Amino acid sequence: MSLVPKYHIPARKENGKRNVVIVGGGFGGYSAAKLLDKDYNVILVERNKLFYNCIAAVRVPLEPRLVETTFLSYDNLLKNGYVLIANVKEISPTCVLLDDDQSISFDYLIVATGTNNTSPFKAPHFTESFGVDQVPLYFQSICDAIRDSSSVLIVGGGSVGVEFAGEIREKYKDKRITLLHGGNRLVNNKMNEKFYAQVDRLVQSHNINVILNERLSTPQDIKDKLKDGVCHTYTVEKKIYTTDQGTQIEADLVFYCIGNSVNTSILATHFSNSLDENGRVIVNLSLQIQGHSNIFAIGDITNIPEFKEAYNAIYHSRVVCKNLPLLDKCNDFQPSPTLYQHVINPKPMIGISFGKTDGCVQFQNGWVFGAFLTKLLKSNNLLINRVAKDLNSPKPYFHLNNN
Ligand SMILES: Cc1cc2nc3c(=O)[nH]c(=O)nc-3n(C[C@H](O)[C@H](O)[C@H](O)COP(=O)(O)OP(=O)(O)OC[C@H]3O[C@@H](n4cnc5c(N)ncnc54)[C@H](O)[C@@H]3O)c2cc1C
Repeated sequence: MSLVPKYHIPARKENGKRNVVIVGGGFGGYSAAKLLDKDYNVILVERNKLFYNCIAAVRVPLEPRLVETTFLSYDNLLKNGYVLIANVKEISPTCVLLDDDQSISFDYLIVATGTNNTSPFKAPHFTESFGVDQVPLYFQSICDAIRDSSSVLIVGGGSVGVEFAGEIREKYKDKRITLLHGGNRLVNNKMNEKFYAQVDRLVQSHNINVILNERLSTPQDIKDKLKDGVCHTYTVEKKIYTTDQGTQIEADLVFYCIGNSVNTSILATHFSNSLDENGRVIVNLSLQIQGHSNIFAIGDITNIPEFKEAYNAIYHSRVVCKNLPLLDKCNDFQPSPTLYQHVINPKPMIGISFGKTDGCVQFQNGWVFGAFLTKLLKSNNLLINRVAKDLNSPKPYFHLNNN
């Protein structure tokens, strides 16, 4: 990875290859960068120095040592291009503007800025006040809080909430764990009955207290932190929480697993017409932002009606990478060639881990499996090894001592 001087980086370098700027080095962004590295001048701009494998984020607070294998450097990702650690503050149709006012022009732009989640479920936006080096202590503090609590309330019974309940239960057999969910189905309401039967089995056999169809309003500070990707610290303090239906829940530690906040404010100035009412980017199935043949959006930020999952972000990156060579052949992208299109799979696929040995999975053909297969596919390792391999096995950034 090379250092970049502070100046305007022009498009098209001497080697005749076109510049591709990718904003966001999450699942979609790093996958696109890898695929394009050989044939383009790739600049991947990512605000965080380390990639966080959030698929494992439900386990890291219980096993803080996992920061060694889930926070990964980008050092080995690219052979030819480079990863620039910088926050993008604005995107225009011709260039990307960084926080320090450096700008980068591009032939192609891929926006893959993804979503924030409440910490510790996605990496926060690291800042001077919460730097990357505070990560091990941060996760240790959450681990200590869970250890010191006697009753944990998890607000939100989507996949993250359910998986997190499973991780806590695996380590602490006697804690009271309550999963409060506003919907009538845990995880989501798009799966089949066999899947829900498995989810019910998971929570019942592991003694999770489930409350459905009731809500707790989210405190404003949690909402703000979610939006800005700011870290939340956890304290153990006995309190009574009253739901909108009047149910009282006593807990001394509460986690909000309330979903994502989409990172598209950098598009608000020049692409406001391309954002839908939820702030998602309106793209066609070739993943182009409307009206811009050379600007793409991929992953969680897109308005494509499908599960916002890492595997979809990776599929998107493959579609875009197949389309760039087709666009290369046109003069100023006119006439527009026939491009590859992302195929939306109307049938959902989801795997829910529940600790290291249990869980359930529903495949796109509707088949549902329980603990045995889910353990092999996901629960045992939460894709930690696979994602590290995808980033070309970088050396661990954190080295925790053995005590
Ligand atoms: C706890 C948890 C568990 C999950 N488990 C699974 C699972 O098992 N399977 C699965 O398929 N999916 C899972 N997901 C969903 C998956 O993580 C997302 O779908 C995926 O991360 C989306 O990838 P992305 O590339 O669109 O965005 P992200 O992964 O969110 O990456 C966006 C990147 O952009 C960077 N960025 C944002 N703004 C800027 C800026 N202004 N300048 C520079 N960089 C910026 C961010 O730092 C981030 O690195 C899980 C999510 C969570 C939270």
